[in-house]
Amino acid sequence: MHPMMKPALRRGWRDRDTVQFGMTPAHALALGPMDPATRGFLDLLNGTRGLPLLREEGSRMNLPAGQVDTLLQRLARAGLVDDARGGGPAADTLREKPDVLRRLRPDLAALSLTTTEPGGALARLAARRALRVRVRGAGRVGAVLASVLSGAGVGEVDVRDMGCVEPWDVAPGGLPAESLGERRDTAARAAVRRAAPDRPPRHAHSPGSGARDRGLDLVILTPRDDVAVHAPDPAEAEPLMASGTPHLYAGVVEGTGVVGPLVLPGTSGCAGCLHLGRGDRDPAWPRLTAQWRCGRARPVGACDLTLATAVAGLAAAHALTFLDGQSPSSTGTRWEVSAPGMDWHARPVRPHPACGCGAAERGKKGEHSSTGGGPRATMAVQRPSTQRRRKAGAARPTGTWRAHV
Ligand SMILES: [Zn+2]
Repeated sequence: MHPMMKPALRRGWRDRDTVQFGMTPAHALALGPMDPATRGFLDLLNGTRGLPLLREEGSRMNLPAGQVDTLLQRLARAGLVDDARGGGPAADTLREKPDVLRRLRPDLAALSLTTTEPGGALARLAARRALRVRVRGAGRVGAVLASVLSGAGVGEVDVRDMGCVEPWDVAPGGLPAESLGERRDTAARAAVRRAAPDRPPRHAHSPGSGARDRGLDLVILTPRDDVAVHAPDPAEAEPLMASGTPHLYAGVVEGTGVVGPLVLPGTSGCAGCLHLGRGDRDPAWPRLTAQWRCGRARPVGACDLTLATAVAGLAAAHALTFLDGQSPSSTGTRWEVSAPGMDWHARPVRPHPACGCGAAERGKKGEHSSTGGGPRATMAVQRPSTQRRRKAGAARPTGTWRAHV
């Protein structure tokens, strides 16, 4: 262990004895009272010293015996300390790629805010390299989203679509103008490769379909067809439901951006639940969806570039939150934003008792909450949200330390 105060949090003194780490309410923490010797000792926590050397330095600074270990334990419990050499073998492998790590420095710093255990941030960043994600739909939203995930360090991002790149598919960060006329999926995969901070790790299997879905950590459905965004067809998701593959919906329909729901099959509300729930609230819903789906697809929908980019970015953030082992707010919820107000609304997709996915039944039995995380064998360490979020009232270290903000 080579302790290092997390550099992502800016430090400031609220008064002579109280130090505040971080500026924003989401992650800021104040600690004190702190004597001058302890204050000076904090400066030594920069990742260059191991524990034995730190104990020596501590006694040289007249800190009482055992104070160094107690201090480090408390700082670690508060989630303020990283381990410059921790994170396990995958993290060590990533450390050997300084160029890749430099590219991902802001991402690593962001992960350090949502992980408590020293070395946890780099462990999660390294774990992303082994993830396998598929994006279905390579329009303005899908191609950008796939590139963003790749750029954030997800090792394998496959893109599926049909047809060729049209002028209106072109978007910064997504399909380039040079790809006009190329196959959409080929062009999107090229964009994904360009965005990657590193060459993808080698995999034993090659791209395929069907049974391979079982091995995917997440599928993201970003249809170019606006009816599929507004009223996702449960039949489309059947193979994903059958294989238990988590999937996330995102897209733009008639000037409204949609992110969610993230579906954890059998646990949270799915496209079938959404369809049945809408039908309960609006008796005309089944008739309307049947007409919309039978109608000719519009080649060009109302999908302005800024909204498409915002949806791609937010959906990628929700996807990464899930892939990093936490529960994003899109689990069982559709977030919707409409021009020109651009304020986001949450629309719950509750498990429906008549849906064959079984989420409603399971929720009733109390096996899982509708917003809880499902079984995710590939995930990194998961911890209760109270340990991750330092909101007022959340669990905090006790003792002579007080914590507020
Ligand atoms: Zn369902």
